[in-house]
Amino acid sequence: MSDIETQERIVAEVKEFAANEIRPFAAEFEEKEAIPRELIDRMAKKGYLAACFPEEWGGLGLDPLYYGLFTEEIGKACSSTRGLLTVHTSLVGETLVRWGNREQKERWLPQMASGEKIACFALTEPLVGTDAGSVQTSYREEGNQYIITGSKKWITCGNIADLFLVIANGEKGITAFIVERELAGITTTPIKGLLAGRAAHIAEIEFKDVAVPRENVITKEGSGFSYVVNSALDNGRYSIAWGGIGIALEALEAMVTYSRKRSQFGKKIYSYQLIQGIIGDSVTKVHAGRALCLKAGRMRRDGDADAVMETTIAKYFTSKIAMEISIDAVQVHGGNGCYNRYPVERLFREAKILEIIEGTSQVQQEIISSFGLRRYYIK
Ligand SMILES: Cc1cc2nc3c(=O)[nH]c(=O)nc-3n(C[C@H](O)[C@H](O)[C@H](O)COP(=O)(O)OP(=O)(O)OC[C@H]3O[C@@H](n4cnc5c(N)ncnc54)[C@H](O)[C@@H]3O)c2cc1C
Repeated sequence: MSDIETQERIVAEVKEFAANEIRPFAAEFEEKEAIPRELIDRMAKKGYLAACFPEEWGGLGLDPLYYGLFTEEIGKACSSTRGLLTVHTSLVGETLVRWGNREQKERWLPQMASGEKIACFALTEPLVGTDAGSVQTSYREEGNQYIITGSKKWITCGNIADLFLVIANGEKGITAFIVERELAGITTTPIKGLLAGRAAHIAEIEFKDVAVPRENVITKEGSGFSYVVNSALDNGRYSIAWGGIGIALEALEAMVTYSRKRSQFGKKIYSYQLIQGIIGDSVTKVHAGRALCLKAGRMRRDGDADAVMETTIAKYFTSKIAMEISIDAVQVHGGNGCYNRYPVERLFREAKILEIIEGTSQVQQEIISSFGLRRYYIK
């Protein structure tokens, strides 16, 4: 891991980068339905595609706490860009760092760090979402290869990815494979008409008898769910938790700024107590959500066994408050809040997605509740 001063410098730099080179263009990316390749390349040059990878693999060596702060800055500027990092760096990259063997790490991590290869995480299917253990994409053994067939849906970066971390079911149970795009039998189709995440190159992917070499299995056959998926979703939830704070803070800044500039009945609207109530609640929620994310980050850094639960709590909470605060930000903007010339209109749509991805809020509630039923039971 990099020393603290270096990590602080990287987070300060990404704040400036995000504010100047991403945030002003977020609406344009949405309109064009694409994060430009040129931005991805610039982020790669700065090491941002591998911010939390160890330096050995071409990363910046940010620890979980600083990686969270880093993610917040990108998520505040543009949720689609944060989405790219969530899947490429957190769901696939960090999972390979954790579960890949030496050969797999040498083969893929440096290329992912340099942006030469973009990775995506292919779990969800047209008929299988929350019940991820029932994936229907199948594999079968054939000599020294596995033959994969099936469809994946809603795959962030699926349309531009070079590497697909595919979760498939077969004789030996759920297994995770790295599938390279150049293999025969892969078709990707962009998904248009999305509520948000429009620039994140989201796609449907078809695998038709794709022959994947045995050495592309991550961990071993049958361990795809317990090791790879659980780990990947935990990494993804941590990234989303900070992404939620990014949206919440951006919406709070927008509502405060607007309320101090807009006048009605001869007074600035912030002077009305009902508007002050909204702002007071929003500030409190942002501070509380940030405290949860920081706590989860410290626990992850320290290898605390409860870090996974704290991450789930943080993800559930910040996606909820991002939604609440962005709804309130639209309200404070009145008619202008319903207009895409004002960022709150986009933030409002982006926040909703966070309550659905990496496990819906209902699933998070169930997980947190079963933890609470054990932890807070007094015999
Ligand atoms: C913008 C976007 C990007 C995405 N990116 C990716 C990606 O990169 N990779 C990937 O694999 N997937 C991705 N997804 C898919 C996402 O993870 C799923 O949409 C999500 O897991 C929910 O699955 P579903 O849509 O099939 O909903 P369903 O599972 O059908 O759920 C529908 C509703 O039923 C509720 N529900 C389901 N089961 C239960 C239960 N047991 N108890 C209570 N309520 C329940 C849910 O909470 C939800 O409200 C993305 C989705 C979106 C919208």
